[in-house]
Amino acid sequence: MQQDTYKHKGLRKRLIEEIESKGITDKQVLGAMLRVPRHFFMESSFLKFAYSDQAFPIGYGQTISQPFTVAFQTQLLQVEHMNKVLEVGTGSGYQAAILMELGVRLFTIERQRELYLNAKSLLEEMGYHPSFHFGDGYKGLPGYSPFDRIIVTAGAPTIPDELVDQLAVGGRMVIPVGDENGQVMTLVEKISSTEVRKTTHGNFIFVPLLKGVEKSK
Ligand code: SAH
Repeated sequence: MQQDTYKHKGLRKRLIEEIESKGITDKQVLGAMLRVPRHFFMESSFLKFAYSDQAFPIGYGQTISQPFTVAFQTQLLQVEHMNKVLEVGTGSGYQAAILMELGVRLFTIERQRELYLNAKSLLEEMGYHPSFHFGDGYKGLPGYSPFDRIIVTAGAPTIPDELVDQLAVGGRMVIPVGDENGQVMTLVEKISSTEVRKTTHGNFIFVPLLKGVEKSK
């Protein structure tokens, strides 16, 4: 595993201050981001970019989300200790590590096999043991539902009904909704078994939520 040096810690502190200045107020979220070495999740050639507020490629046409976006989605999710949380789009595993730092019971699903395997081995090496799943997150994980929180980290053309069905009453889902030109961050709150309240929270750009699974490229 890579080292987390004083230099990395210093750069990370500056990045978190920047994110705070951009409007993130949740101290728990900021604290979790201060603790997780983001550079562990990036290829070595991108090391110097690990502590700038930008998304970066992680291979297979995918990206590690921008730190501000990770903070924003996590803040909007409002997780509570021991919540059962589903993350769709494990990707690098960075967002998963932040959620684990917040003390949730995490289920994370990825459709691209190499990313699934890489994230699983890295997170386990770092001491995080969420429940990892290789599969199509559009379908969620019905066998493990209901979830108190669902976070989707890829842009969805529409809100998948399966995910709404798997949300507990009183639960929250944060999902970017839109096409490849951009998405609107959408909070779906489940009011009762048949009713949801949707609110929008600004514009973002994610890689698309894709159907089916991908074994290799
Ligand atoms: N949370 C990630 C963000 C990765 S980008 C991180 O912190 O790095 C989005 C990820 O969603 C990609 O890895 C992509 O392969 C995955 N993805 C896209 N469609 C999916 C689907 N239907 N099911 C599961 N994962 C999906």
